[in-house]
Amino acid sequence: MTVWIERELCNGCKRCIQACPYGAIELEEGKARILDRCTGCGACLAVCKQEAVKSDTRPREVPDFRDRSGVWVFAEQREGVLHPVSLELLGKACELAEALGQEVAALLLGDGIGPLAETLFRYGAQKVFLVEHPILTHYRTLPYTNVIERLVREQKPNVFLLGATHIGRDLAPRVSRRIGVGLTADCTELAIDPEERILLQTRPAFGGNVMATIANRFSRPQMATVRPGVMEAREIPENQGEVIPFPVELSEEEAGTVVLERVKEEKKRVDLSKARVIVAGGRGVGDRAGFEVLEALAALLGGVTAGTRVAVEEGWIAADRQVGQTGQSVRPELYVACGISGAIQHRAGMMNARYIVAINKDPRAPIFQIADWGIVGDLRDVVPQMIEQLRGGRLL
Ligand code: FAD
Repeated sequence: MTVWIERELCNGCKRCIQACPYGAIELEEGKARILDRCTGCGACLAVCKQEAVKSDTRPREVPDFRDRSGVWVFAEQREGVLHPVSLELLGKACELAEALGQEVAALLLGDGIGPLAETLFRYGAQKVFLVEHPILTHYRTLPYTNVIERLVREQKPNVFLLGATHIGRDLAPRVSRRIGVGLTADCTELAIDPEERILLQTRPAFGGNVMATIANRFSRPQMATVRPGVMEAREIPENQGEVIPFPVELSEEEAGTVVLERVKEEKKRVDLSKARVIVAGGRGVGDRAGFEVLEALAALLGGVTAGTRVAVEEGWIAADRQVGQTGQSVRPELYVACGISGAIQHRAGMMNARYIVAINKDPRAPIFQIADWGIVGDLRDVVPQMIEQLRGGRLL
């Protein structure tokens, strides 16, 4: 496909330059100019309001999605207990639905789990599609996929969010494949594009070295998974909603698997996502003894310690305390980052903290870009001083 600019139509707005993923358009004397490295992907065609970008092939037509409505959340439950990520997703779904002027719905599958609908309403659902059947008692891939496929085809939602849990990671790709739509896994941010009114799905890409925003113009629902702890659950006690029972006929034959036994192993992993205060350390902490000092600070603040991947790899802190893209996502009230540079993979797990305090001896450390308070200094001086002042009641 060849792409060119009709110079007399171009007003130099730069929308095409921003849209080009290959940096193949530049401005020359106030007009866009296509460079040799253009791959003909056509991203610039869709954004040009002047119709100044021309090509010798027709751009792919955006289907009419006016019949698609609703922001859906998969309400994951095990043995009648909702997974917290479902409530967190409802919080985000409320925001998205408000921006779109659409409703928030939850999909609740299981057996004898109807009363959970009340909790879903309290966290923002306006509708709960309730599917109850003995075969749905425990999660199994095929029955859950079959039921959700039917619901999606009948109800035509616009957006569908699932938690990136073990169940969500199994279910979401199955459903997306069945329906023939895309899926963005492990999103760290979701928003609605105000102009195109489509879902902007942001996630780390290329080994976490960049944050990529993915949008889907050509299919619905727009599907995304989000890891627990990334979004914020918001209770709306006065919210009320409607339960919509969705009767299904299911057979063991179509289930494909049989649950013989459920084995529960005691989970020793520390759930950092619930911590209100986290004192985290990185390479700058230097050794295991340095982490003991952070533990003293965390104890005084009523919090827990965590670390970067470097701190985990050095063996200064347990692997289940790693924060970041390949660790846990946290959202504490206070995150004290000690000797942490603020690499994008670390920030992906903690940037939603309410307040961030960074202690680093390098004033140019990227962590200061997201910190609410920055202390430039050696943490071996700063942290003991903080401890001393807290013990003396001077910082409380
Ligand atoms: P550094 O980047 O080395 O920073 C150390 C900082 O300490 C520096 O800014 C320095 O100025 C400061 N410092 C040194 N001494 C002192 C002192 N005495 N006082 C004060 N400040 C001092 N990382 C994660 O954390 N979590 C993840 O989940 C994660 N996932 C990853 C996934 C992938 C695919 C990849 C490629 C990488 C991942 N990483 C992850 C690694 C990440 O890229 C960084 O390497 C890591 O976060 C850096 O850790 P750090 O800040 O402890 O170390």
